Amino acid sequence: MSAMQTRKTYLNYIGGQWRASVTGVVEASRNPARIAEVVGYVQVSGAEDLDQAVLAAQSALPAWRKLSGASRGDLLYKTANILERRTQEIAETMTREMGKTLPEAIGETARGVAILRYYAGEGLRKIGDVIPSTDSEGLLFTTRVPLGVVGVIAPWNFPVAIPIWKMAPALVYGNTVILKPAQETAVTAAKVIECFEEAGFPAGVVNLVTGKGSVIGQGLAGHPGVQGITFTGSDVVGKQVGMAALKRGAKYQLEMGGKNPIIVAEDADLDLAVDATISGGLRSTGQKCTATSRVIVARSIYETFKAKLLGKIRDIRVGNGLEEGVWMGPCANENQMNTVLEYVRIGQEEGASLLTGGRRMTQDGLAEGYFVEPTVFEQVTPSMRIAREEIFGPVLALIPFDSMEEAIRLANDAEYGLSASIYTRDIGHMLTFIRDMDAGLIRVNAETAGVELQAPFGGMKLSSSHSREQGQAAIEFFTSIKTVFVKS
Ligand code: NAP
Ligand code: MG
Repeated sequence: MSAMQTRKTYLNYIGGQWRASVTGVVEASRNPARIAEVVGYVQVSGAEDLDQAVLAAQSALPAWRKLSGASRGDLLYKTANILERRTQEIAETMTREMGKTLPEAIGETARGVAILRYYAGEGLRKIGDVIPSTDSEGLLFTTRVPLGVVGVIAPWNFPVAIPIWKMAPALVYGNTVILKPAQETAVTAAKVIECFEEAGFPAGVVNLVTGKGSVIGQGLAGHPGVQGITFTGSDVVGKQVGMAALKRGAKYQLEMGGKNPIIVAEDADLDLAVDATISGGLRSTGQKCTATSRVIVARSIYETFKAKLLGKIRDIRVGNGLEEGVWMGPCANENQMNTVLEYVRIGQEEGASLLTGGRRMTQDGLAEGYFVEPTVFEQVTPSMRIAREEIFGPVLALIPFDSMEEAIRLANDAEYGLSASIYTRDIGHMLTFIRDMDAGLIRVNAETAGVELQAPFGGMKLSSSHSREQGQAAIEFFTSIKTVFVKS
C-alpha cells in the first residue's frame, strides 16, 4: 500500500452513518516514523457532533438492552471475524499512525479479536445470584442491568486493544457506546468501528466521535446523557474526567499511568532478567502503561547485570516499524519525544549518570521521524523525578539494593501501583513480594508488561480508580446490580 492510497478522510460514525463534523474542520494524522506522511485526515468535532452521538446512543438503547445477551454476543463474534480478516491492514495502519512495530501491531490486533470472542461468550454467562430470603415464601435474587450510554475515552498506545476491551463488555451487557479515541490514532479507531458496522450492529449502538480531548473527551465526561465513562490515559486527565462524572452522579472508571519496577534478586537468572527488562522497558518504545521503568538490582550482581543489559541494548535496531528486523519504533508524536528528551536532561541535572542513549536519532533517515535512543541511567535515587514520574519512553533507571526488604521498599516508593515484577528463584522472596508489593499486577519471573484478557487488569494507588477491567471483572463496571424480592 502506498502512502497516497491511505490518504483519505475519515468521518465520525453516528447513528449508523458516517458523517463529517458540523465544524467542517479536519486534521492530518501523521506517521511518527516519517512525519511528512499523512495516514489520513480525521474530524475535529465539536459539542454539536457529540450531542448527536449521545442522542443516537440514547435512541438505540431501549431495543438494544431488550435483546438477549446471546444475540448481542453473536454480533461481537461477527466483529471478531471481520477484524481477524482485516488484521494485516489494520495493524499496518496502526504502525503508520503511532509507530509500534508491525509484529507488535499484529499481535495487538489478534488480541482485539480474542477479546471480542471472549466477550461474545459472556452473553451466556450468569448475571446474578439467588440469596435465601428470611421470608420463606419469598424469592430474593440479584440481576444486572446495563448503565445506559457509555462513553469510552482511549489513549493512543493500544489503539485497537483498549477501545475493544472497553467496548466489547459494555456492548454485551446491553449498553450503547460512544468511542472518543485519541486523536493521534483516530484512523485506526475508524477502521475498528468499520468492523462493528460490517458485523451489523443496529444504528446508534456503536458511535465514533473524534476530536480534541478537551472538547469531546471532557464533553463526554460531563454530558448529562452519558451514564458511564471508562477512561484510559494519563492521571492528570483521568482526574478531570472522574471529577466531571462524579459531579453529575455518573459511574466512572479510570486506568492511568505507571512507574513499574522490576526487582532482580541476587539468585535471579540474569539472562532472563535482562531480557525481561529490555522487553518490558523498551518494547513499544516504552509507551506502555505497564512498561518497566525502575530496575532495582541486588548490589552483589549489579555490575554483571549492567554489563549484560548494556550489551544487549547495543544490538537493538531502531527504525520504521514497518521494516523487517526493526525492534523499536519511534515515539508516537513530537510531544512524546520532547518529553523523553526533557527527562533525559532532568535526570542529568539531578545528578543521575547516563550510561547509554539519551539522544534523538538522526542517522540513516531517522531524522524524518521522532526516534530516540534506548536510554539507561544509573546513580538514580528514589527522590529524583526520573525515578518518580511516568516518562512513557525508552528510559530505564538502575537502582541497587542490599536486602530484599529494601528492594520492596524501593519498589513501593512510588505514587503509582500498576504492575511489578521480580526475578528470583527463592520462594520466600516470591511470597514476600506477592504479599507486600502494592500493585494491581504482580509478575514473578515475568516482565512487568503482559496482560491476559481473561484476567482482571488494573492498578492501585494513582494508577487507577480501583476498578478492574477485562475478564469477568468487567461486569462490575459496565452493569448495575438490582436486588429483587418477589412474593406471590
Ligand atoms: P492522555 O493525554 O491522558 O489522553 C487519553 C485520552 O483522553 C485521549 O483520548 C485524549 O484525547 C483524551 N483527553 C485529553 N484531554 C482530555 C480532557 N481534558 N478530558 C477528557 N479527555 C481528554 O493520555 P495519552 O497520552 O493518550 O496516553 C498515555 C497515558 O495513558 C499514559 O499515562 C499511560 O500510562 C496511560 N495508559 C494507561 C493504561 C492503563 O490501562 N492503566 C493503558 C495505556 C495507557 P486526545 O489526546 O486525542 O486529545
Ligand atoms: Mg500519528
